[in-house]
Amino acid sequence: MEKCVFLDRDGVLIKDVGYLKNPDDIILMPQTIEALKNLKKIGFLLIIVTNQAGVAKGFFTVDDLERVNKRLIKVYETNDITIDDLYFCPHHENGIVEPYNIKCSCRKPDLGMVVKGVEKFGIDINKSFMIGDKDSDILLAKNSGLRSFYIKNSMYEHDENIIPDFYVSDLKEASDIIIELQGD
Ligand SMILES: [Mg+2]
Ligand SMILES: [Zn+2]
Repeated sequence: MEKCVFLDRDGVLIKDVGYLKNPDDIILMPQTIEALKNLKKIGFLLIIVTNQAGVAKGFFTVDDLERVNKRLIKVYETNDITIDDLYFCPHHENGIVEPYNIKCSCRKPDLGMVVKGVEKFGIDINKSFMIGDKDSDILLAKNSGLRSFYIKNSMYEHDENIIPDFYVSDLKEASDIIIELQGD
């Protein structure tokens, strides 16, 4: 079975600029290339799971979103890093754009996107991780049995009752810990 690191996109891989629409506005977070390379080297799949309610809310279209995602994957590809898959949730129940204005089962912390990856690749949850910068990422991890990293430099409120396995300052620190854990 495969082991996987599930990655949030905004605030983990790239700067969270809020409802990112234009690929030119992608800013990689520091040391993400090094971090992802190191994880790949020890055999982890990399799957991005990202809530993009901006589609449902009418801030950008699925086409806009796919352009941004493609560019990001390309940036990593040119650095010899294959992102194995990317899943996004375009939904929000209070959205205004049909057919995305629904209560779905893929918006984090619901499990839809993780389940998709697990089934497609045959992923062992017990050997896998979730790295995110919102409570919904930690809750997703808890709901699915993944170990979780919470990146602290968040602009979002953090409920201290929602406790991740690890608090870290960035993706690189999370990847270093994952690598250490492989020795156990
Ligand atoms: Mg985020
Ligand atoms: Zn959804």
